[in-house]
Amino acid sequence: MTRRTALIVDDDAHVLEVLEMRLEALGFDVTASADPQAAIQILSRRGFDVALFDLRMAPIDGIALTRAAHEKQSRLPVLIMTAHGTIDNAVQAIKEGAFDFITKPFVPEELSGKLARALLARRWARDRELLRNLGETLASSNAVEHVLRTVADRTLEATETERAVVFLREGDALRARAVAGASTTPLVELAAQAEATARRGAPAVVNGSDGRVMLAAPLLVDGTGEGAVVAETRSYVVPTDDDLVLIAIFASQAAVAIKNAHDRSRLRGGALAALGRVATQVAHELNNPLGGLKLYAGLLEQRFSKLGDEQGVDMARKIDKAVGHLGEIATDITAYGGSHELRREPMRPNVLIEDCLPLVQDRLGDGRLQLVTDLDAAVGELMLDQREMRKALLNFIVNGLEAMEDGGTLTIRSRALPDNGVRIEIEDTGAGMDDETRARVFELFYTTKSNGTGLGMAIARSVVDRHGGRLDIESERGRGTRIRIELPAR
Ligand code: ADP
Ligand code: MG
Repeated sequence: MTRRTALIVDDDAHVLEVLEMRLEALGFDVTASADPQAAIQILSRRGFDVALFDLRMAPIDGIALTRAAHEKQSRLPVLIMTAHGTIDNAVQAIKEGAFDFITKPFVPEELSGKLARALLARRWARDRELLRNLGETLASSNAVEHVLRTVADRTLEATETERAVVFLREGDALRARAVAGASTTPLVELAAQAEATARRGAPAVVNGSDGRVMLAAPLLVDGTGEGAVVAETRSYVVPTDDDLVLIAIFASQAAVAIKNAHDRSRLRGGALAALGRVATQVAHELNNPLGGLKLYAGLLEQRFSKLGDEQGVDMARKIDKAVGHLGEIATDITAYGGSHELRREPMRPNVLIEDCLPLVQDRLGDGRLQLVTDLDAAVGELMLDQREMRKALLNFIVNGLEAMEDGGTLTIRSRALPDNGVRIEIEDTGAGMDDETRARVFELFYTTKSNGTGLGMAIARSVVDRHGGRLDIESERGRGTRIRIELPAR
């Protein structure tokens, strides 16, 4: 723990000296001044944990100094020092915002007792503020990651430890999901502590290896230990019950937020599925009339062409193009809804990839965009629905090309996996995704493009899922995106 800091101001040099020694003996870092005006200067440069001011000073007395100090640092606890017989003034000082008063000459127990109380009061004031901030962050945030990071940060601040880690259950193990601060203790040691705490379901203080202390509290979601918050430190003097209470409160706040986020994402999932069904129905209804329109546009173009009406031909072509675009969107939407049974047949993934290439040639522009393939001949046949899988690959490729407005390289790689499956990577050097996009790419209708449908990624994921495959995205803003698909041999 960092040393506490105290500011003492008394115009009696002898008192000042005695007090400085006493406070240093109590473990304080002391700044002493005999001049109240100089003290105000000091206060505008730095903060203190506690202050002691003499009541009778000139030209500024202790009460005025307290007022001035609170203008700089509103929560600074001030102890007013008075000689015997000036109690009335001391009472006045407390009315003016001093925390307490002590009488001279000092009784050692009184001094240390009142200092401890002042520190505790300051600490609770600060903790209340931290908790209120945390509560506000949690109430306004949907993203679990953000919540966990906030909990780690606030725990570190409130417990004044060296590192705070939030662990969450993932499969069989607890994984560190947010870390604040730093220390050299291996995370596994903390993870073991987190596991024990999550199982026990109650906060605890534990002595770790080489004199380290850990404070841990469980994250209970619907009564089960879904994780734990662990704070650890080397030099923690003695963790108090307050520290434990505090970390338990932070942990329970995090648990509530996680439960809310789960509920919300379930709700959103349900709402999206319903929206998807409606959209599919609408798209289906649109398909036939669009086909008719396309046919008429074609006929119009022929007629105008026969009449030699160039303007008419041009308009008919524009209609045809617009209708074509609408048709593509409708087809996309229908494809998403129609997650019909796969028609699997033996197929070489490399061939599928090569099939996609001519389809995107016209998007390569005037040589600003490079398309590179690096295909592993050892990749064998897999049982794939080629129509569906081609659609998915094409979506990834088109997205990659669209992300490289200022030019760049798209690399498509295939590799045989030890289990005879395949890994396909589609990597671009384009714009990359920001956090929000990364979190929402698979959301139906989520798009950042003015003419996008936000369906491509959702469809592609459902195709990969239905093939029993894995899909990973690595993306860095300004650097590019890598899509990795792993398909099992089945
Ligand atoms: P659309 O392409 O119609 O916008 P998608 O579902 O294919 O819809 O993609 C959703 C969003 O994901 C895109 O709008 C884009 O913001 C982001 N995205 C997808 N692929 C990439 C990529 N390779 N690089 C950067 N952003 C991407
Ligand atoms: Mg797309």
